[in-house]
Amino acid sequence: MSIFEYDHFDSPLKVGDNNPHMQKCVFCQNKLEVFSINDYWSIDLQEIYSFHQLGKSWCYEEGMDEEMWELDLSRYSCEVYFHHCNKCGWWRIIKDVTVSAKVWQLWQFSMAQQVY
Ligand SMILES: [Zn+2]
Repeated sequence: MSIFEYDHFDSPLKVGDNNPHMQKCVFCQNKLEVFSINDYWSIDLQEIYSFHQLGKSWCYEEGMDEEMWELDLSRYSCEVYFHHCNKCGWWRIIKDVTVSAKVWQLWQFSMAQQVY
Protein backbone atom coordinates (compact mmCIF):
# COMPACT_ATOMS: atom_id res chain seq x y z
CA MET A 1 0.00 0.00 0.00
CA SER A 2 1.27 3.46 -0.78
CA ILE A 3 1.61 5.92 2.08
CA PHE A 4 -0.77 8.35 0.47
CA GLU A 5 -4.52 7.87 0.50
CA TYR A 6 -7.03 8.97 -2.06
CA ASP A 7 -10.19 9.78 -0.20
CA HIS A 8 -11.37 13.06 -1.54
CA PHE A 9 -12.94 13.81 -4.87
CA ASP A 10 -14.37 17.24 -5.17
CA SER A 11 -13.85 20.70 -6.45
CA PRO A 12 -11.07 22.45 -4.46
CA LEU A 13 -13.42 25.40 -4.23
CA LYS A 14 -15.74 23.44 -1.97
CA VAL A 15 -15.06 23.74 1.71
CA GLY A 16 -14.83 20.77 4.03
CA ASP A 17 -12.76 19.52 6.95
CA ASN A 18 -10.95 17.09 4.72
CA ASN A 19 -10.21 19.55 1.94
CA PRO A 20 -6.40 19.74 1.75
CA HIS A 21 -6.61 23.31 0.54
CA MET A 22 -8.17 24.37 3.84
CA GLN A 23 -5.22 25.34 5.98
CA LYS A 24 -6.96 24.84 9.31
CA CYS A 25 -6.41 22.14 11.91
CA VAL A 26 -9.24 19.57 11.76
CA PHE A 27 -9.17 19.29 15.57
CA CYS A 28 -8.75 22.76 16.99
CA GLN A 29 -9.33 24.96 13.92
CA ASN A 30 -5.99 26.65 14.48
CA LYS A 31 -4.34 28.03 11.34
CA LEU A 32 -1.80 25.49 10.09
CA GLU A 33 1.84 26.26 9.46
CA VAL A 34 2.69 25.33 5.88
CA PHE A 35 6.16 24.29 4.75
CA SER A 36 7.20 23.30 1.26
CA ILE A 37 9.35 20.15 1.61
CA ASN A 38 11.38 17.80 -0.58
CA ASP A 39 9.47 15.16 -2.47
CA TYR A 40 10.67 11.71 -1.33
CA TRP A 41 7.60 9.74 -2.41
CA SER A 42 7.00 8.16 -5.73
CA ILE A 43 3.55 8.26 -7.24
CA ASP A 44 1.57 5.59 -9.00
CA LEU A 45 0.23 7.21 -12.16
CA GLN A 46 -2.02 4.25 -12.86
CA GLU A 47 -3.60 4.66 -9.43
CA ILE A 48 -4.13 8.36 -10.13
CA TYR A 49 -5.68 7.51 -13.48
CA SER A 50 -8.09 5.01 -11.91
CA PHE A 51 -9.02 7.49 -9.21
CA HIS A 52 -9.62 10.17 -11.81
CA GLN A 53 -12.01 7.86 -13.68
CA LEU A 54 -14.21 7.65 -10.58
CA GLY A 55 -15.22 11.26 -11.02
CA LYS A 56 -16.34 10.97 -14.59
CA SER A 57 -20.03 11.52 -13.89
CA TRP A 58 -19.18 14.66 -11.94
CA CYS A 59 -17.34 16.06 -14.96
CA TYR A 60 -20.17 15.35 -17.35
CA GLU A 61 -22.44 17.27 -15.02
CA GLU A 62 -20.04 20.21 -15.27
CA GLY A 63 -20.38 20.01 -19.06
CA MET A 64 -16.80 19.00 -19.77
CA ASP A 65 -15.63 17.54 -23.08
CA GLU A 66 -14.19 14.04 -23.22
CA GLU A 67 -10.79 15.37 -24.35
CA MET A 68 -10.52 17.72 -21.41
CA TRP A 69 -11.17 14.76 -19.21
CA GLU A 70 -8.60 12.35 -20.69
CA LEU A 71 -5.27 12.57 -18.84
CA ASP A 72 -1.91 12.83 -20.57
CA LEU A 73 0.14 10.91 -18.01
CA SER A 74 3.43 11.94 -19.62
CA ARG A 75 2.93 15.54 -18.43
CA TYR A 76 2.79 16.03 -14.69
CA SER A 77 4.48 17.85 -11.82
CA CYS A 78 4.52 17.39 -8.06
CA GLU A 79 4.73 19.60 -4.98
CA VAL A 80 4.84 18.43 -1.38
CA TYR A 81 3.77 20.38 1.71
CA PHE A 82 3.99 19.73 5.42
CA HIS A 83 1.06 21.15 7.37
CA HIS A 84 1.55 21.50 11.11
CA CYS A 85 -0.69 22.71 13.93
CA ASN A 86 1.46 24.41 16.57
CA LYS A 87 -1.37 24.26 19.12
CA CYS A 88 -2.20 20.55 19.29
CA GLY A 89 0.62 19.01 17.27
CA TRP A 90 -1.50 17.47 14.50
CA TRP A 91 0.22 17.29 11.15
CA ARG A 92 -0.22 16.02 7.65
CA ILE A 93 1.81 15.76 4.49
CA ILE A 94 0.10 16.80 1.30
CA LYS A 95 1.37 15.89 -2.10
CA ASP A 96 -0.17 17.81 -4.96
CA VAL A 97 0.20 16.19 -8.36
CA THR A 98 -0.78 18.25 -11.36
CA VAL A 99 -1.48 16.27 -14.53
CA SER A 100 -2.28 17.72 -17.95
CA ALA A 101 -5.30 16.58 -19.86
CA LYS A 102 -4.95 15.91 -23.58
CA VAL A 103 -6.34 19.37 -24.27
CA TRP A 104 -6.71 22.58 -22.31
CA GLN A 105 -7.15 21.25 -18.85
CA LEU A 106 -4.95 20.72 -15.81
CA TRP A 107 -6.01 18.33 -13.08
CA GLN A 108 -4.69 18.55 -9.58
CA PHE A 109 -4.67 15.57 -7.25
CA SER A 110 -3.99 15.90 -3.57
CA MET A 111 -2.81 12.99 -1.51
CA ALA A 112 -2.53 13.15 2.23
CA GLN A 113 -0.74 11.24 4.93
CA GLN A 114 -2.16 12.21 8.28
CA VAL A 115 -2.55 10.94 11.81
CA TYR A 116 -5.87 10.84 13.66
ZN1 LIG B 1 -4.71 21.68 16.19
